[in-house]
Amino acid sequence: MPVKDYSEFVCILPWFMNPLPDEKNPNSKIWSASFRLDQDVSHLFPYINATLDEALYYEKPAHVRFLLNGYRCFLYPYSAAVHFFESQAAAKDFIAGFIDFLNDVEDQKKNIRPNYDQIKPIPIIDILKILPKTNCRKCGYLTCMAFAAAIMKGKEGTDKCPDLALPISENAVYPVFDDTGKLVNSVSLQINTSRLKNQIQAQHEQILRLEAALRTDQQNEKAADSQRPPQKTDFGLTNREIEVLKLIAQGYTNNEISGMLFISPHTVKSHMINIFNKLGVNDRTQAAVLATQNNIL
Ligand code: SF4
Repeated sequence: MPVKDYSEFVCILPWFMNPLPDEKNPNSKIWSASFRLDQDVSHLFPYINATLDEALYYEKPAHVRFLLNGYRCFLYPYSAAVHFFESQAAAKDFIAGFIDFLNDVEDQKKNIRPNYDQIKPIPIIDILKILPKTNCRKCGYLTCMAFAAAIMKGKEGTDKCPDLALPISENAVYPVFDDTGKLVNSVSLQINTSRLKNQIQAQHEQILRLEAALRTDQQNEKAADSQRPPQKTDFGLTNREIEVLKLIAQGYTNNEISGMLFISPHTVKSHMINIFNKLGVNDRTQAAVLATQNNIL
């Protein structure tokens, strides 16, 4: 049923908007208006909430706040309040258009998907209790108090404060401690986790990318290892023993090695015993093969 009329029109001068007379224009005033509608319009709240970007639909007391033609409106089931007008006549002009707006929403209901999301206000002081209270401004607000007010109005989510531990559920319960660290209360906040989910998803993808890069590095390393010549292992041989081993591998006899290195045959034999022991072999041929395989020569 369309809204036809209004009654109980009241226009007041809010003291906080009219602190001092304007000397240049002493008649200038700022007015707030309130009025009563001729029927209950609460069934329109979810449709207005869905239609206007800045609409806020409150659970208690049930009402919806929104901007219409630049005027801030508070619509209750049977009444409305609107701020701020330059004159009472301007307020009355606006109310006529306001009623047309309500009737337009009524007419368009079938084309609008209603938004039943409601704001359940939490006392600002309770929200402030869980904030770090450092006024660091990382959230974009000058103070934690201003940020708490934005949360209370449903304009922001707690995830904008980077120093607040991020909850991962839609309904987050934060502990509140007193100055001695004793748990004294808890505050339950409804939060929008979509941004947080995106962050987690981005981090997850980053981890997958890093894991893939690590796997590729490991495979490359393995391939390079397989192509690299075996590392030189000298089995703890002394320089002199390596000299002797080289000559052994070249097929020289003990006496020939003795003459070439100017050492006695007995010393050559002693070096050979040490070489065999260190390489774990029993004869000259095995010693030469092992030395070649390990790049000792
Ligand atoms: S980022 Fe957090 S701690 Fe910093 S001002 Fe905002 S609410 Fe306060």
